[in-house]
Amino acid sequence: MEYLLTQEQRMMKEMVAQFAREHIAPVARNNQKEGRFPSEIITRAAELGLMGIAYPAEYGGAGMDFISYMLAVAEISRYCASTGVIVSAHSSLAVDPIYRFGTEEQKKSYMPDLCSGKKMGCFCLTESAAGSDAGATKTTATLVGDRWVINGSKQFITNGNEADIAIVFASTNPPAKTKGITAFIIERSRPGYTIGKIEHKLGIKSSSTTEIRFEECTVPASHVLGELNRGFKVAMLTLDGGRLGIAAQALGIARASIEDAVKYAKERKQFDRPIADFEAIQWMLADMHTRYESAWLLTYRASLMKDRNIPYSAEAATAKLAASEAAMFCASKAIQIHGGYGYTEEFDVERYYRDAKITEIYEGTSEIMRLVIAANLLK
Ligand SMILES: Cc1cc2nc3c(=O)[nH]c(=O)nc-3n(C[C@H](O)[C@H](O)[C@H](O)COP(=O)(O)OP(=O)(O)OC[C@H]3O[C@@H](n4cnc5c(N)ncnc54)[C@H](O)[C@@H]3O)c2cc1C
Repeated sequence: MEYLLTQEQRMMKEMVAQFAREHIAPVARNNQKEGRFPSEIITRAAELGLMGIAYPAEYGGAGMDFISYMLAVAEISRYCASTGVIVSAHSSLAVDPIYRFGTEEQKKSYMPDLCSGKKMGCFCLTESAAGSDAGATKTTATLVGDRWVINGSKQFITNGNEADIAIVFASTNPPAKTKGITAFIIERSRPGYTIGKIEHKLGIKSSSTTEIRFEECTVPASHVLGELNRGFKVAMLTLDGGRLGIAAQALGIARASIEDAVKYAKERKQFDRPIADFEAIQWMLADMHTRYESAWLLTYRASLMKDRNIPYSAEAATAKLAASEAAMFCASKAIQIHGGYGYTEEFDVERYYRDAKITEIYEGTSEIMRLVIAANLLK
C-alpha cells in the first residue's frame, strides 16, 4: 500500500522503521519482562522529532501530517507496543488538545517542550467510577478568587509516572454533568499533584499506568484549556485522534504477528515438510493478512480525513474497532502457528497477544466503538 503514500510519508515510515529495527527491537522483550520504561528510546525518538510529528515547526513540531504520525506509531509498535502507546498518548492526548484548543500563549508555553520530548504529557479523564461513562467525573474544580482548586483522583493514566504536564478533566458545574466539565493544563510540579497507585498489567508493561491524585491542587485561571464547561467536547474530539493512534499501535502488533508467523511457518518442519505447506496454516495466514490490510485501509482513510479537516469520529471508531480486532486475531493465530513454542516466552508472539488485548479496551472499548458507529448509522 506504499503507493498511497506521498514521498515524504514514505521517507518518514522508512526512517522510523530503521530506528525501530536498530534501537527498539533489540531491547523490547527485556524491557517488557522487567517492566522498564524505555527512557533511552524515548530520548532518541525525541531527537528524531517523533514526539511532535504532526505539529507545526513554530511550536517545536516536525511539521508533518497526521498520516506520517500514524505510520510512525505503527512502525514503532511493530517492535514494541509499549513504546507505541507512550508516543501515542503523549502526542494524541496531551500535545494535540493544546494545539487544537489552546490559546496562542498556551501553545507557545507548553508545545515546544512537549514536541521536543523535553517534557512528557498525559491525559487524565478516567476515574474509578467514570470509565466508559467519562461524563460521570467526580473530580471537581472550584474557583476561589482568580484560581481553580482541583480535587479528585484519576485512574489508569498512561505515562502517569513520567508526565510533566497533564490534561485534566474536572467538573466545574456538577449538576450540568457533561456540560459542566472543563479541561485544565496542570504541571506535575503543582502542590497537591501526586502520583498514586502504579498498575501491574497483562501487557504493554514498559509503559506506566498510574493513578494521579489532586488534593487542593491550585492553578491560575490561565490554565483552563478551551472554553469553560466545554471540556467534555475537548475530551471527545481529542479521543477521536487518540483512537487512530491506538489503531496504529494495533496495526503494528498485527504486522509483527504476521511477519513472525510467516517466518516460523517456513522454518518449522513436521511430517518432513515445512508447516507452511499445510493448507490449514496457509488459510490462517491469509485471514490474518486480510484483516490487517482492511484495518490498515480504514486507519489510513480516517487519518486522511483528519488531515483534510473532514469530520471523522465514526471513521476513527471504525478504524480502531477493526484494527484492535485484527491485532487480537493475528496475535492469537500467530501463537497457533507457533504451536507450543508460541505459548512460551522464547518467542515474541505471546507478548503480541498480551499487548493486543489492551487495544480493545483503552480510549474507548470495542463496545463503545460499536455504539459510536451505530449512532452514526442511525442518526
Ligand atoms: C493500560 C491502560 C491505560 C489507560 N490509559 C488511560 C489514559 O491515559 N487516560 C485515561 O483517561 N484513561 C486511560 N485508561 C482508561 C480506559 O480508557 C478505560 O479503562 C476504558 O475507557 C474503559 O473504562 P472502564 O475500565 O471503567 O470499564 P467500564 O466502563 O466499567 O466497562 C466495563 C465493560 O462494560 C462495557 N460497557 C460499559 N458501558 C457500556 C455501554 N454503554 N454499552 C455496552 N457496553 C458497555 C465496556 O465495554 C466493558 O466491556 C487506560 C486503561 C488501561 C487499562
